[in-house]
Amino acid sequence: MPIDPTLPYDDNNIFAKILRGEIPSKKVYEDDWAFAFEDINPQAEIHTLVVPKGRYVSWDDFSAKASDAEIGGFIRAVGEVARAKGLVEPGYRLMANIGAHGGQEVSHLHVHIFGGQPLGPMIL
Ligand code: IMP
Repeated sequence: MPIDPTLPYDDNNIFAKILRGEIPSKKVYEDDWAFAFEDINPQAEIHTLVVPKGRYVSWDDFSAKASDAEIGGFIRAVGEVARAKGLVEPGYRLMANIGAHGGQEVSHLHVHIFGGQPLGPMIL
């Protein structure tokens, strides 16, 4: 069920558990600001998720409350993951779902990286 991004951060969400190492993930990348792992139900040849290490529900509270260092570090990490995956050429797609209309299911901000195949003009 889509989550309400205005609710307080829930430390029991599944990505919080992955960050704490309480449940396994296929780790792709980690630095001071971000952690990246393979999506458990890939929607493209390459489908990787990048999450900030801070406790943010969605792009909404992250963009409003995170420090410039956290925001910069996270955005740079997303690019690092795409480069590490060899996606820069021929390209890739980033997506972040926010709240009910965005179809957000997990209440810890995550950016989807899709690639490894032509993705067409848009996915809704
Ligand atoms: P959302 O709809 O943007 O919230 O996307 C949540 C994503 O998390 C979906 O693509 C799921 O397949 C993925 N997902 C859910 N649980 C896990 C997990 O335990 N490991 C990796 N990916 C997960």
